[in-house]
Amino acid sequence: MTATLMDGRAESRRLLDETAVRAATFARTRGRRPCLATVLVGDDPASRTYVRMKVTRCAATGIESRRVDLPAETTTEQLVRVLRDLSADPLVDGILLQHPTPAHIDERAAFEAIAADKDVDGVTGASFAAMAFGGPGFASCTPAGILRLLDAYEVPLRGRRAVVVGRSAILGKPVGMLLLARDATVTYCHSRTLDLAAHVAEADVVVAAVGRPELVRGDWIKPGAVVIDAGYNPGNVGDVEFEAAAARAGLITPVPGGVGPMTIAVLLSQTVEAAHHHG
Ligand code: NAP
Repeated sequence: MTATLMDGRAESRRLLDETAVRAATFARTRGRRPCLATVLVGDDPASRTYVRMKVTRCAATGIESRRVDLPAETTTEQLVRVLRDLSADPLVDGILLQHPTPAHIDERAAFEAIAADKDVDGVTGASFAAMAFGGPGFASCTPAGILRLLDAYEVPLRGRRAVVVGRSAILGKPVGMLLLARDATVTYCHSRTLDLAAHVAEADVVVAAVGRPELVRGDWIKPGAVVIDAGYNPGNVGDVEFEAAAARAGLITPVPGGVGPMTIAVLLSQTVEAAHHHG
């Protein structure tokens, strides 16, 4: 392997330590801890695990969590009502709707029921607009975590070619917007892209956000490129063929221990930021 590993665990610890200090200051001066409401619909085991991890991390960082677990048969209307109530609750600073929600839920309608100033997961249209137009608002957590990791390793972005593989609303699209805001030349690839290999081969920075094990082959990577693997597939396998990519890349994220820990750290950091705004 020639690439240097981008250590998301170490970088996320730094952000969590900083967040814990800001949470403690908030609690001391305002007489209550910042509060993140987590909303889970149904009992998908992976989603349960993700919520549990976030709640545990909140406790360790001095953030209160309010858990709302709803049955699988919850309707979109019921979920929207719950999210509107949390949005109106002065003791709730941030709201996380664990996704994906069950198939019968209109997920977009549910996301949009979250008040923009509590959208610490960065899933609403208002947050996307903030990322696209550079206005105030929260960023989507995984994309923001990726940018923090790139900055921690002082990866230059201005004028560089960035290729994002995947265009989901919470990952691919917003990470492309954040890279564009930093003056990278951004190409989005997706399931209809012709000759994915040729696009990836041009990239100085590759972000893989697909959800298909080792879709991005190692021999596509331009020598010295920076490879960010946001994918997480069963068996701790990313979306990039790790060993072969690491033999060519300059920097690469491991799976696990790369992008994943950054996501939770950004979520908690944005929750404390929201609390400071709410007062
Ligand atoms: P998603 O909503 O399923 O989107 C997947 C994207 O990949 C789509 O845009 C799709 O294109 C594209 N795609 C599918 N097959 C392709 C192919 N053969 N070639 C090129 N593009 C292809 O997934 P997501 O929510 O963005 O998640 C992506 C991955 O990131 C998953 O592994 C997920 O577990 C992981 N993830 C990690 C974190 C974290 O914290 N580390 C957070 C969120 C997600 P179309 O648009 O054309 O269908």
